[in-house]
Amino acid sequence: MEDAGRTAHEPASSGAGHIVVRAVSKSYQEGDRLHTVLDRASVEIDSGEFVALLGPSGSGKSTLLNLIGGIDSPDDGRILVDGREVTSLEEPDRTLFRRDRVGLIFQFFNLLPTLTVLENLLLPLELKRTVGIDAVRIAEELLERVGLEARAGTFPDRLSGGEQQRIAVARALVHGPAVVLADEPTGSLDAEASRVVMELLEELVRERGRTLLLVTHNPELATRADRVLHLEGGKLVEEPRGGDGGRG
Ligand code: ADP
Ligand code: MG
Repeated sequence: MEDAGRTAHEPASSGAGHIVVRAVSKSYQEGDRLHTVLDRASVEIDSGEFVALLGPSGSGKSTLLNLIGGIDSPDDGRILVDGREVTSLEEPDRTLFRRDRVGLIFQFFNLLPTLTVLENLLLPLELKRTVGIDAVRIAEELLERVGLEARAGTFPDRLSGGEQQRIAVARALVHGPAVVLADEPTGSLDAEASRVVMELLEELVRERGRTLLLVTHNPELATRADRVLHLEGGKLVEEPRGGDGGRG
């Protein structure tokens, strides 16, 4: 028996964010045929690693992220995060896992338009029942780190895309998740905004020791990662380490 209430509220400590994807399959029904998106895909990602995931449109990158984040379930195979089998979690443990252990960043920011910037940042903390002065302090600190402390009372639609994504980066980290899943986070930004968002994301994730799985179309962004994976024919294939200056 799992005490999800307790484990889910533990802050991510060093050593957290270890991901195992083991022979995971996922298919979608398309008319009268089955479209296999993931076909016994496997990978292991260490705590604190920054892994880039590349693959053409429709290759299953978002599907894989949704499975790791506990948003969707595989047809077959197992996913473990810090030894806990995400694939077998039932509600409400699944919800607890998602909101406490995972930070999500999307292409189109997904900030709540009726909440101010600060309120958007407080939301993951409130869901985790961190409230009051503590929550405000944590949120303001991160807001400052992404350089938008002056915009705390602003509504998201007043911000540029790059600024909104910086808020989304802060929101993905504010509750101390072990795993950050970013799905083409710079896909709708210009080159300069992309650079700022990626630098902030990498910096904040690395200094906190979080695990980052970054889906991107952009092979250049992938060069910043510790490892690069490709989704090909439903399988995860590791890119051989090239002569990238001997990082790591
Ligand atoms: P990527 O993120 O690599 O572009 P996706 O994971 O979004 O790819 O989708 C992979 C494939 O699965 C696509 O062919 C897509 O149409 C299909 N797909 C994704 N989600 C669903 C769904 N809920 N129902 C049916 N097909 C889906
Ligand atoms: Mg996608």
